[in-house]
Amino acid sequence: MFKALVLNQQDTKTVASVEQLDDASLPAGDVVVGVEYSSLNYKDGLAITGKGKIIRQFPMVPGIDYAGQVLSSGDDRYQPGDSVILTGWGVGENHWGGMAEKASVPADYLVSMPAGLDSRKAMIIGTAGLTAMLCVMALEDAGITPEKGEILVTGASGGVGSVAITLLDQLGYQVVAASGRPQNSDWLKSIGADRVIDRAELLEPARPLEKQLWAGCVDTVGSKILAKVLAQVDYEGAVAACGLAGGFDLPTTVMPFILRGVKLLGVDSVMCPFERRTQAWNRVTELLPESFYTEAATEVELTAVPELAEAITVGQVTGRTLIKL
Ligand code: NDP
Repeated sequence: MFKALVLNQQDTKTVASVEQLDDASLPAGDVVVGVEYSSLNYKDGLAITGKGKIIRQFPMVPGIDYAGQVLSSGDDRYQPGDSVILTGWGVGENHWGGMAEKASVPADYLVSMPAGLDSRKAMIIGTAGLTAMLCVMALEDAGITPEKGEILVTGASGGVGSVAITLLDQLGYQVVAASGRPQNSDWLKSIGADRVIDRAELLEPARPLEKQLWAGCVDTVGSKILAKVLAQVDYEGAVAACGLAGGFDLPTTVMPFILRGVKLLGVDSVMCPFERRTQAWNRVTELLPESFYTEAATEVELTAVPELAEAITVGQVTGRTLIKL
């Protein structure tokens, strides 16, 4: 038997409850993992509250990421006792996820725990941290070096934003955090922001081209804010876009692209190929200072998840939320 958060649908509403499940109910997979930690991401919030059409088959165990130890394996790459990490691949969406003491997955979905990391730290990083690293790597690949100027991070208090701030700071970039929560300013500076601007400044209607302010940007918000940022990025600057916390539309023009050579770089962590995924896990492990793990995370039990899921969908969660199994 194992404990899990289970989502069911009742009268078109998604209902979440903590249940004891039989091992036989685990979905088919090459590797059974004893989950030690999962984490709460924006997408988990949408899935658990039913606010987003994330889950199409019920019952479902949510949790788009987890870390733990292999309990049994039918694949040569993994042996019992190995520490592994899972993010993405539709787990917690269409395959049972990490908010359970046990999970079963195809071996191709896993990565080995990098040296220097454990399950707890891996889930403080989680999908959000992996995505933040992939965004920073995208900016680096586009030639955005620290001497080029300030990097803006939108949705700064969130999981992706907060890790991106720390990573950029560690790499020597000047980091500007855009946040809608002024009460988080001191915390944002403590994790690496050089200065903090009010999100409202980026919500004023964008002209096709505005004063050039940013060498680059990690955008987790999309919509009007991304449009505004594109109009403010320097000549040959770049924006790594990974999120839609402010909406999935993009009311922009081609002007930043055709007159300033601005690059809009899409970033996806879910289907990210194994090589790049492993490279990103190794780099994020090297870059994050020990202080990050104490300053950027809150730890909760499974029973606290439904309430926090609601909070993350309305932008009320700060930093990373870790779920102990
Ligand atoms: P969080 O909810 O932790 O953070 C989002 C942050 O955005 C909030 O903390 C808030 O920061 C800001 N925000 C919230 N609502 C709004 C709004 N209406 N308008 C503007 N800003 C808002 O989410 P995550 O960090 O986990 O994820 C961020 C985004 O990235 C999500 O859209 C998520 O789906 C996406 N994502 C994409 C991935 C990919 O592979 N492409 C992987 C992981 C996440 P503040 O209060 O400081 O302004």
